[in-house]
Amino acid sequence: MKEDEMNINKSATPPLAPELIEQFRKIVGERHAITDAADIEAYVTEERNLFHGRSPLVLRPGSTAEVAAICKLASEHRIALVPQGGNTGLVGGQTPHNGEVVVSLRRLDKIREVDTASNTMTCEAGVVLQIAQQKASDVDRLFPLSLGAEGSCTIGGNLSTNAGGTAALAYGVAREMALGLEVVLADGRVLNVLSKLKKDNTGYNLHNLFIGAEGTLGIITAATLKLFPKPRAVETAFVGLKSPEAALKLLTIAQGEAANALTSFELLSEMAVDFSVRHGIDVRDPLSEKHPWYVLMELSTASDDARTPLETILTRAMEEIVDDAVIAASLAQRNNFWKLREEMSAAQKPEGGSIKHDISVPVAAVPAFIEEANAAVVKLIPGARPVPFGHLGDGNLHYNVSQPIGANTADYLARWHEMNAVVFEIVLRMGGSISAEHGIGVLKRDELPEVKDKTAIELMRQIKAMLDPLGIMNPGKVL
Ligand SMILES: Cc1cc2nc3c(=O)[nH]c(=O)nc-3n(C[C@H](O)[C@H](O)[C@H](O)COP(=O)(O)OP(=O)(O)OC[C@H]3O[C@@H](n4cnc5c(N)ncnc54)[C@H](O)[C@@H]3O)c2cc1C
Repeated sequence: MKEDEMNINKSATPPLAPELIEQFRKIVGERHAITDAADIEAYVTEERNLFHGRSPLVLRPGSTAEVAAICKLASEHRIALVPQGGNTGLVGGQTPHNGEVVVSLRRLDKIREVDTASNTMTCEAGVVLQIAQQKASDVDRLFPLSLGAEGSCTIGGNLSTNAGGTAALAYGVAREMALGLEVVLADGRVLNVLSKLKKDNTGYNLHNLFIGAEGTLGIITAATLKLFPKPRAVETAFVGLKSPEAALKLLTIAQGEAANALTSFELLSEMAVDFSVRHGIDVRDPLSEKHPWYVLMELSTASDDARTPLETILTRAMEEIVDDAVIAASLAQRNNFWKLREEMSAAQKPEGGSIKHDISVPVAAVPAFIEEANAAVVKLIPGARPVPFGHLGDGNLHYNVSQPIGANTADYLARWHEMNAVVFEIVLRMGGSISAEHGIGVLKRDELPEVKDKTAIELMRQIKAMLDPLGIMNPGKVL
């Protein structure tokens, strides 16, 4: 499915007057106001080429004061803005679909403070996630947010999408890692609720409003993040088993044995592993024989020994639940296991069109969801190939469905919303969410009012109207 088939409101934005461009240019400086179409291209397309926007101007502010001045000027002239971080979002939230001005936060890349006694780190919004992780590691701490795009995505983007990733099982999602924020509001006011406090009951929790808001309520310019003790030992196992039910039993044993030391528990279908091995770069199947399902699990401990609890879990599960397992013998082998997982999305491309769902259901319902959804999508499109994989420990699956072998890709992708409807019906019946990780953006905007509590939607609209009465902050996204 391409953008123009997605029912995105393409209302024309009036052209930006040259005098206004000049005023914006004065705020950020000549070099950081981009108007050349070729240079703008990288900001209006995204990795999968699913969305292609347009913009007359990309602004690259270098400070909170510059962001505030941009918002003030934009609100005086009703100019729509699209905040952008690493441009790795998967729902079209960071794309200017209607000629809005892009505000790229990547130059806000300072780590303002690391406080190892309070276990906090205050980062500007444009700090790349991997740099934040490294900075924490340098002071013997862990910043646990971890996802496939960590080499490019930014802290501001992670918070705006409330990113999940592979360690959410133990450490929670991005929201749970932020103690406070600095945010520029649509009218240019700066909300400073940066805080190192775990305990602060002084009224409404405002910073949480902006987390997961996908840039529709304001522009995050900095965040105070929680740091955690760096694990002394990490052990990773790759496990072959027969079914999602078996994986669920393994999860229960692992949580009983390791509690919070179980930091990742990824369920991978045979087809997802097969695609990754065949199409991924430098990817190998760690097990000698194929299995219908696999689990990639990781234990991270405060003691020097993560291996004994991992072996205990596998020994307890070996007879009835686990068919085969290997524990990484080296860091290189561990990286190999994770490479297989990380290549999974890209490895689906050579197999043709893939209709994607980023869903969650209660953990206990995952096996039933997979069984029902597999039957339903194949009934809808005979020959369609479900490729489920994801964070079983969080009940979150990337329920992707590849086109039938030999099918016409465009015809298949034209049925995107039809398949979504079939899958979402099962998700909602099971008490799940249609967007577990990636957000709403424009991709799921039209479905949101149908699946969310009516009062919740009403309140969301009222909050949006209060914080952004002119509707200039990432218009057309989420609501
Ligand atoms: C290979 C790959 C793997 C991924 N894996 C995961 C995963 O495991 N879990 C997961 O949750 N996501 C995942 N994602 C999705 C994506 O990486 C995350 O959503 C990420 O948090 C986006 O960060 P970003 O800086 O690239 O934001 P962008 O893509 O630039 O923006 C995303 C949204 O946030 C808004 N925004 C960005 N910066 C700001 C700011 N400073 N203030 C206000 N609004 C802002 C934008 O307007 C947009 O709506 C993956 C993506 C890829 C390509």
